Amino acid sequence: MKRPLRTGAPLRVTSVTSITPRDVLTSTRRPALVASISYVSTPAPESTTTSTLSPFMSTSLPRTNDTGSAAGGSTPADRLPRMYLDVFSDNSFETNCWLLGADGTEDAVVVDPGFSPDRVRAVLDAESRRPVAVFATHGHYDHIGAAAEFCGDDLPFYIHEADATALTDPEGWGSGPGTPPVPVKDTRTMADGDVLTFAGFRIEVVHTPGHTPGSVCFLTDATVLSGDLIFAGSVGRSDFANSSPADMARSLNRFLELPDPTEVLPGHGPRTTVGRERERNPFLRER
Ligand SMILES: [Zn+2]
Ligand SMILES: [Zn+2]
Repeated sequence: MKRPLRTGAPLRVTSVTSITPRDVLTSTRRPALVASISYVSTPAPESTTTSTLSPFMSTSLPRTNDTGSAAGGSTPADRLPRMYLDVFSDNSFETNCWLLGADGTEDAVVVDPGFSPDRVRAVLDAESRRPVAVFATHGHYDHIGAAAEFCGDDLPFYIHEADATALTDPEGWGSGPGTPPVPVKDTRTMADGDVLTFAGFRIEVVHTPGHTPGSVCFLTDATVLSGDLIFAGSVGRSDFANSSPADMARSLNRFLELPDPTEVLPGHGPRTTVGRERERNPFLRER
């Protein structure tokens, strides 16, 4: 049954194709632990957005209340409410660990702490921000690998119930051989429609399976943290043992229900917007 779109052209996703590793994942800096895994589908040859997938190794993006745009282009900053927004992505997977908080509070939430927990803390410390909760968009190790160390004894860690097994039984869940468990002390599972309120703002959980069974997007007033569902000019892989291409297509359609101005903060690579991806992403094709 066709779902109503709130805005934009009636693009529908019917398949997800062209799956090959990204060049960056052949780097010798790649951790041996996950050497056989990549998470991003390569854009189709006719893509005009390849340049937005260039290496993304800086430790910080401009904040949303700064002028200018993040790497690869973004919406004008004045469209977004003032808030603290930063990213740590200095790792061989270019996995984005997003840091967010409302103005008027010193709290922050941390999304996808895959690497370098001390350096993520240093980014927060530099802005006098105190982490109060940690979220995972899904259970792949490059998004949760540092969660136990980062959370320690105190911080709650939220992950969708269908990906929580990635913490305790990674291989059984579908991670590659040798992926270690992530012994987070205070794990809390979440489900579609849950609303989490931390660091002065509201975050809605949107279950978007396909890349993994428990992949989610986090929706705030003006942004969506899209994890490995969608990137600037590409989409996440859906050929893992626990992936579902059919679910992926449904989840991408759900993504397309978001308003065009919504800022997209993906799990890898530069920021984008829903409208930009609706218009240019070669994986979002008309039926
Ligand atoms: Zn990823
Ligand atoms: Zn992933």
